[in-house]
Amino acid sequence: MKTIKVHKIAKWLVYHYANEPGSGYSFAIDSDGRLVLTDANRANYYKARLAAKHGDMICDGIVEVVSTVIYHVVTCPVCGRKVYLYAGFCGACECGAAYDEYGILIADKDGKIDYDESYDPADYY
Ligand SMILES: [Zn+2]
Repeated sequence: MKTIKVHKIAKWLVYHYANEPGSGYSFAIDSDGRLVLTDANRANYYKARLAAKHGDMICDGIVEVVSTVIYHVVTCPVCGRKVYLYAGFCGACECGAAYDEYGILIADKDGKIDYDESYDPADYY
């Protein structure tokens, strides 16, 4: 199994409350530099703009956030596909094979679980 790191850069339009710098709103900017407004965030965007106009919020402009995502890369023994799994989380291949948080196959596509029979969850709680 191979582990890779992928650096992702996301851009956000950020507003914070004038009297509470760590609190406010951020709105995604897409790869073409356009603001992404949805039915869920549109009202907050206009609320933030209005608050900034009155001095209750401050617009920080567009802020870049760099994050690193670690993937376990496995070749699925069931179907042969290359599978990218978020390290630290359980995941699955398109064929249905399931993997634990370390990228270890724990069940095949039919849900047949292959685990160490000496494992008893009661030992861990
Ligand atoms: Zn598979």
